[in-house]
Amino acid sequence: MEKKLKFIDPHIHMTSRTTDDYQAMSEAGIVAIVEPAFWLGQPRTQVGSFQDYYSSLVGWETFRASQFGIKHYCTIGLNSKEANNEALAEQVVELLPLYLHKENVVGIGEIGYDDITEAEDKYFRMQLDLAKEMDMLVQVHTPHRDKKAGTIRSMEVCLEHGIEPSKVIIDHNNEETVKEVLDRGFWAAFTIYPKTKMGNERMAAVVEQYGSKNIIVNSSADWGVSDPLSVPKTASLMLKKGIAREDVVKTCYQNALDAFGQTGVMKESDWSNASGVDQRELFHDNSVLRGQQPKVDGDKIV
Ligand SMILES: [Zn+2]
Repeated sequence: MEKKLKFIDPHIHMTSRTTDDYQAMSEAGIVAIVEPAFWLGQPRTQVGSFQDYYSSLVGWETFRASQFGIKHYCTIGLNSKEANNEALAEQVVELLPLYLHKENVVGIGEIGYDDITEAEDKYFRMQLDLAKEMDMLVQVHTPHRDKKAGTIRSMEVCLEHGIEPSKVIIDHNNEETVKEVLDRGFWAAFTIYPKTKMGNERMAAVVEQYGSKNIIVNSSADWGVSDPLSVPKTASLMLKKGIAREDVVKTCYQNALDAFGQTGVMKESDWSNASGVDQRELFHDNSVLRGQQPKVDGDKIV
């Protein structure tokens, strides 16, 4: 029998998800994830709310993932929607350098445009300068309205700020944007939503047409209707449709590792050499258990 496929979901907001999701993701073969900083639905009014959120992305959430055998990384940034609260945005941008060197931070994200306002443009550019200065990767959120123009503009602004296309992951692509993104040498990530927008049937068709080079599949699962198993489900559909296993591995695992691993923070040995789950562990006196028997992988070896 062929070896079971491993997956990386390089865009998922686990802060909004449950331990059942972690359990199901782990069982489906997801070994590593990237959680970009984003908005929470409820607009934040204080810089302290951002600070605690970023702290949780480099602390508690990383621990929580580890309790289910998943390696958690994140990108830190000021999202485009909240860039429009300029008084607050100013303070948030000052916080970023404090977090960008934390252990599991693989880049600046998700940043870019939402409504393409002046304030969004200002803070996008400011964070691109920071990425350039700190030699970091950039995870770009492209707008859902005016998708094609917004995507092209996002890439042009990255180039204007001297960022190499290979250091930029352009997210939320569709059939209209993919060619431009690939032609310019950027990474083209696709978010697979369960019922609307980009579905996994359409994703399989994109891979049939464009191949697997620089194409990355993610779920962007968050507090809205979304599916944390989008990556493994898309992989299984692609295999069923006769897409080569090699292309499935690239789009659902290897390309995410090649893209986000460029700075050396994310490496395959982080999960291939991991010692396994030990749910007896605590984070600031907290565990994920509520009286259950802790799962301890180490017991099998000792
Ligand atoms: Zn997102």
